Amino acid sequence: MKVEPGTRVSLASIAADDTGGLTREDAERRFKALAKELGELGRLLWADGSRKLLMVLQAMDTGGKDGTIRKVFRRTNPQGVKIANFKVPTSEELAHDYLWRIHEHTPGSGEIGVFNRSHYEDVLVVRVLGLVPEERWSRRYDHINAFERLLADEGTIIRKFYLHIDKDEQKRRLQARLDDPTKNWKFNAGDLDHRKLWDDYMAAYQDVLEKTSTDQAPWHIIPANHKWYRNLLVAEVLVEALRDAGLSYPEPEEDLDGIVIE
Ligand code: ADP
Repeated sequence: MKVEPGTRVSLASIAADDTGGLTREDAERRFKALAKELGELGRLLWADGSRKLLMVLQAMDTGGKDGTIRKVFRRTNPQGVKIANFKVPTSEELAHDYLWRIHEHTPGSGEIGVFNRSHYEDVLVVRVLGLVPEERWSRRYDHINAFERLLADEGTIIRKFYLHIDKDEQKRRLQARLDDPTKNWKFNAGDLDHRKLWDDYMAAYQDVLEKTSTDQAPWHIIPANHKWYRNLLVAEVLVEALRDAGLSYPEPEEDLDGIVIE
C-alpha cells in the first residue's frame, strides 16, 4: 500500500498477515515473472545510463529486510546492485551530521542502490532511545525530504518500503532463532530490548510514514508476515517504477548495417 503524501497512517489497522486474497502458489508464480522482469529492467537501467534507483528498506528486527533483498534481486545482475547496511554509527560518523555517511552510498548512474536500514534510523531508533533531544530529531523530517528531493532532481528514482510484521510474528521469528541451531547466530539479546519498546517504534514509524512520503520518494507499507506476499509486493513496486522511467537502450554509435565480422 502506497502512502499518499499528506495522509494519516494507522499501522494498528493495517493487517500484517494480509495476503491480498492470493494463494501462495499464485503469488509465487507472479513473483517469479516479476523477478525476471526486474533483472531485464536492471540491465536496461544500466544501458540507458541516465537514471538510478534507490530502494530504502526499513523494518523492525526480524522484519525480513535481508530475505527481501535476496529474493527480489535473485534474477538481477549483482554487479548492478549496491547494497549498503547502516549500523550503529562509528565515532567518526557521529562527529558529522547524520546524512554525511548516507550520501556516499547513494547509487550512481545505471545502478540500483539498496539501503538496508537508512537515514530513517535517525528518526526511529534515535528518537525511541532518546539518543538526541527532540528539538534535534524533530527537524530531521524536513532535512530528509529536502535530501531526497535533491537525489530525485538529479535523476534518482526512489522507492521506500516499510516491511510491516506484527508483534506475534516477531515472537515466532525470534523463537525460531532460538530453536534452530542454524539460526542461533542471528539471535541478538539486544533485539529483546527493542521489542519492549514496540509501541514507541510504531509511533515513530507512523510519523515517518506521514511526514516523509512524497511524490518523488513515496513510502510503501508492505504486509510482511507472509514472505511470499511481501516479495511479490516489493517486486511489483520496483518493476512498475522502472517500467515508468522512460528508459531506453542507447542508439549504436555507428551504422552497424554494413559491418562484417571476418
Ligand atoms: P540488522 O538488524 O539490520 O540486520 P544489526 O543487527 O547489526 O543489523 O543492527 C544494526 C543496528 O544498528 C540496529 O539496532 C539499528 O537500530 C542500529 N542503527 C542503525 N543506524 C543507527 C543510527 N543512526 N543510530 C543508532 N543506531 C543505529
